[in-house]
Amino acid sequence: MEETIPAAHAAQIPQQRGESLLETAVRYVEERHWEVFPGTWLESADGVRRCSCGEAACAAPGAHPARDDWATQATGSATTARRMWQQHPAASILLPTGRTFDALSVPESAGLLALARMRRMGLTLGPVTLSPDRRTHFFVLPGASAKVPDLVRTLGWSPASLDLVALGEGGYVAAPPTRYGLGGAVQWACRPTPANRWLPDADELIPALAYACGRDR
Ligand SMILES: [Zn+2]
Repeated sequence: MEETIPAAHAAQIPQQRGESLLETAVRYVEERHWEVFPGTWLESADGVRRCSCGEAACAAPGAHPARDDWATQATGSATTARRMWQQHPAASILLPTGRTFDALSVPESAGLLALARMRRMGLTLGPVTLSPDRRTHFFVLPGASAKVPDLVRTLGWSPASLDLVALGEGGYVAAPPTRYGLGGAVQWACRPTPANRWLPDADELIPALAYACGRDR
């Protein structure tokens, strides 16, 4: 995707406020034991913003794997992560799913509705991201992707009728403060904290998520 943007904004795109992407990626490895790998990033030249992959029609500008072998490139080593971001300081931070966590992805409106409901119910939530493509990702224990369709069916929904995607092995999510799409940053709706180091099981979150997705249709 290419887009013409004012020069004053163009200059800011590769920069992140506060902690660098390198520091953040290393912190995810050290503090959360998450694997990380560097993805593409948004570049701007002559006021035109585009994905570093060079494809004018890129489907996910600024946040997709840069290599086919990303699954083997993903690392849980802080030293390796530091080296990878030293080589590409603007690279997006991508986290493989299906390893230390899976992610349940729903539209942002449904995600925020479910989040409010889960908080009222006193559920212990894992980290939750809001992404610039207006989706919400709930981090849960690995193995969710295999059982989500059955859980949804048990609640009386057809899995195909709900925009609820479980990302497991072979998938990935973009982590804050990665910027992509039109340039917005991935944000935490629920930050990673010592309290949510133990992730919830998909069973605990699916009722609220399915209900919110069903209402959201
Ligand atoms: Zn691209």
